[in-house]
Formats: sequence, C-alpha cells, structure tokens
Amino acid sequence: MTIGIIGSGAMGAGLAQVVATAGHTVRLLDQNAEALQRAGAGIQSSLNKLAEKGKITADAAAETFGRLRLTQDVGTFNDCELVLEAIVEDLSVKQQLFREVEMLVPDTCILASNTSSLSIASIAAACKKPERFIGIHFFNPAPVMQLVEVIPAVQTRAGLAEEVRDLVHSWGKRPVLAKDTPGFIVNRVARPFYGEAIRILEEGLADMATIDWALTELGGFRMGPFALMDFIGHDVNYRVTESVFASFFYDPRFKPSFTQKRLFEAGYYGRKSGRGFYSYA
Ligand code: NAD
Repeated sequence: MTIGIIGSGAMGAGLAQVVATAGHTVRLLDQNAEALQRAGAGIQSSLNKLAEKGKITADAAAETFGRLRLTQDVGTFNDCELVLEAIVEDLSVKQQLFREVEMLVPDTCILASNTSSLSIASIAAACKKPERFIGIHFFNPAPVMQLVEVIPAVQTRAGLAEEVRDLVHSWGKRPVLAKDTPGFIVNRVARPFYGEAIRILEEGLADMATIDWALTELGGFRMGPFALMDFIGHDVNYRVTESVFASFFYDPRFKPSFTQKRLFEAGYYGRKSGRGFYSYA
C-alpha cells in the first residue's frame, strides 16, 4: 500500500516512520523544504538509534528508510491508497488541502486527518466524496505512543472505520473508535488536566516544577502538565484549547488561559522554540 503523509512536522515525520516501518511505501510532503529535509534526517537518525540499540537490524533500518519518498509535489500522490494529513491545525487550510488532494488521488483512496480538535465532519464537508473521509488521531511521538483514535464522521461510509481500525492495528498500534466530538477522548480529558494545572499556578498554590513533580513522582503520570505542554508546543496546544472551547459552545470548563495565550503570542512554543513554561536554552 502506498500512503501519502502531508505535513512533515512533529507528527507527520513520526507518522511517516510508523507506516514505513509497517512496510508501506510513504510519500511525505511538506510545503517547507527545510521542514521536509529535517524530517528525513530525523527519521533516519531515529531508525539508526533503534538499530544501535538492537531493536531492529541495520538492514531493516535501511529498508524502512528506503520506503520513504520526500516530496514537495502533490502530483506524486496519484498512486496513494491512503492520504493522512498532519499540517497546521486550521480548518480552512485543511479543507483547501483536501480539495486539491482529492483531484489527484484515485477514487478509492481513503482521506484522513490527524487533527487534534477540529470536527472530522467539517473537514470532510470540503470533499466531493466525504464518505471516504475519516479521522486517524495519533499521539506524540507517534512511533512510541500506542494509542490511536479512529474517528468516523457522520459522512463516513459504513465499514470504513473498522477497515481503518484493522489497518492501524496491523501497524502495531492500539486503535480505539471514538465519536466525532470536540477533542475526541484524550484531548477532551486533557483540556482540564492542563487547564487546572495552569489555574493552580495562576492562583499561586504551587509553582510549575512542584506541580510537575507531584504528578510524575507521586501521581504516576509520565510527564507533568507543564513539561507536556512544552513538549507538544503551545502553538498546537493553545489552538486545540481554543478550538475545543469554541466547539463546546464556550462551556467555561474548557476556557483557555491568558498565561498560555501570552506564551503562544510571544512565540514561546516550548521545546521547539527553546522556551515555553520552562527554558531549554
Ligand atoms: P508542526 O507545526 O510540527 O508541523 C506542521 C507541518 O505542516 C509544518 O512542517 C508545515 O510546514 C506543514 N504545513 C503547514 N501547512 C501546510 C500545507 N498547506 N501543505 C503542506 N504542508 C503544510 O505541527 P504538528 O505538531 O506536527 O501537528 C500537525 C497536526 O497534528 C495538527 O493538526 C495537530 O493538531 C495534530 N496533532 C499534533 C499533536 C502534537 O502533540 N503535536 C498530536 C496529535 C495531533
């Protein structure tokens, strides 16, 4: 199966590695040439590290990398059987992308979004054949995280969710079917996790390091809320919070915080920019 991945940032690069490892030919596209080269180098280095640790053989690493085609030409997607996008979290940009992609790919090609918070129905609505559209939501870092949410839209044809669930399962992941509601399962639960942590900070009840320490050392979480928001990136995480808040008709439970909004506005996106809640310089 040939799979097209659009967007080669944190998620797209990880998705390309997952599907190439599963044996598929992958076309990885980004509008930004630098991001594309960075993704290629990152995937190669990640596969080499797995080989050095003895988790895969050096041959398997080379074969996997050999299945990856970096491209800036969406015309090469004409043989794709699945196209999964991981571009910026913006509805109109995603809709425009699928309008273009749909003209190039075969009629049988499945179209999918890795959106964290936008409604799958609203992206599908831009397509001529919305019945082939579905959400496939991975977690960061995609090669490591087991969970994948598979989200059929109201327009998705009967049976496609189960086909995609089985496909994702064959990639060694643990898929769950989720309804097309804001934040699906995990990002809905995660909003109050982040939101309450920021409120505790704003109310002066504890500092960031203490909150992160309490939740990791004592609470059993792998990462504390501030370290996790910095890891995800405030550009992505803040937009998701705004989107979930609006999608729940401005339910105050999901209200974004000015503290995070200011980080977002300042370009303090977290690890990726060297500064977020914490400094990574
Ligand atoms: P990112 O900023 O790291 O990468 C996005 C990439 O898309 C960039 O390289 C950019 O150049 C490219 N891009 C933007 N518009 C494009 C277009 N029109 N055509 C081609 N390329 C384009 O973002 P990310 O963190 O990888 O997130 C991508 C998507 O995945 C978002 O929808 C986000 O909500 C979702 N997501 C993110 C996470 C996370 O933890 N970061 C987890 C799950 C899902």
